[in-house]
Amino acid sequence: MEDSSTPEPKTNKCRYLVEDVEHDKRCPNPAREGKNLCDNHMDSSQGDLEDFRAATDHFKQDIREFFTRSNFYLVAEGGLLAIFFAKVTKTMPTTTFEYILNVSVILTGLGLAIFWFFVSSWAVKWIDRWRAEIIRVDKIISQIHSYFNVECGPCRPRSPEKVTRHLPWLFIGIWAIVFVLIILKWTRVIC
Ligand SMILES: [Zn+2]
Repeated sequence: MEDSSTPEPKTNKCRYLVEDVEHDKRCPNPAREGKNLCDNHMDSSQGDLEDFRAATDHFKQDIREFFTRSNFYLVAEGGLLAIFFAKVTKTMPTTTFEYILNVSVILTGLGLAIFWFFVSSWAVKWIDRWRAEIIRVDKIISQIHSYFNVECGPCRPRSPEKVTRHLPWLFIGIWAIVFVLIILKWTRVIC
């Protein structure tokens, strides 16, 4: 038997989130014919998307710069250590002048590693701020919420930049040990 009742007209509401995804408060206006957004949000969503794209570009740029910077410091520190060890293993310092020269190289390496650590830590803080901002905007404007799902989802491994920012400690440790050894050698405590 054929169903004579008229089908309920499908109410297509605007899907624009006026609050973030956790509150799931959406715009109450009806969506434009064949679209997911109402007339008001059709235009503003385009502007939001542009802003979101600018924010994600900034976030990605900060991450790229973080690793470019880390590579620079890594090469500089590695080069300085290699030169220092090549020189010291060949001829140990004997005169005061040579000791001063060695200590200056060590302090340069140590200073650079400490500077690298602070720069990395601050850069990670900036990356975190941009990440939080993108997650916030993603929760509001995206219908897929990729950033929110990936960045805030379960079993989230530690971000590479958060691990890499501790790399300077390796060089700080090596330079500190070498500094102590050279001072002990200089003061004739060790031979
Ligand atoms: Zn709307």
